[in-house]
Amino acid sequence: MLGRVVISQEEIAEMVDRMASEISAEIEGRSPVFVGVLKGCVFFFTDLVQRIKKPLEVDFIQVSSYGSGTNSSGTVVLVKDITADVRDRDVYLVEDIVDTGVTLNDVAAMIRARHPRSVRIVSLLSKPSRRKVEVDVAHLGMEIEDVFVVGYGLDYAEEYRNLPQIHELIPEG
Ligand code: 5GP
Repeated sequence: MLGRVVISQEEIAEMVDRMASEISAEIEGRSPVFVGVLKGCVFFFTDLVQRIKKPLEVDFIQVSSYGSGTNSSGTVVLVKDITADVRDRDVYLVEDIVDTGVTLNDVAAMIRARHPRSVRIVSLLSKPSRRKVEVDVAHLGMEIEDVFVVGYGLDYAEEYRNLPQIHELIPEG
């Protein structure tokens, strides 16, 4: 069942604006590649890159780990690879939420294997209390407590992604 609003549309817009200005200041003259981790990132990703008024490239990667429930299986399988050549480029990995850290840790390793100049992680949300693997998030929207959230790209069994704000999902029963 859909619960309370955890992050409103206004709060999301403020976070995305702030992150876009932080990143804009950092990428002067660099033309980085922004790699969105599908599918959860899409709304955040498009809002973010449109606010960065500098040359950049966009690409996407998709991995599967969560299945359709609310608990990670802990194994990450590549579903869709990037097409950009990232050798000697600055890469920004854009994710919706860092939970255990397993997904981003594995995705960052896949990207680093192609010899980019740098890899930086951008995430809208983070649940630090759930971390199993250390992940260095360079640009973060906000930390949240250990609740399962949906909306603004985040799903439960592929539902709720299109909600414009972020809600808590209350488990049935
Ligand atoms: P991690 O590998 O860090 O444990 O999990 C990352 C992925 O798990 C996220 O990209 C997201 O797809 C999913 N995930 C983790 N926490 C939540 C949550 O609270 N809500 C939703 N909808 N997905 C989550």
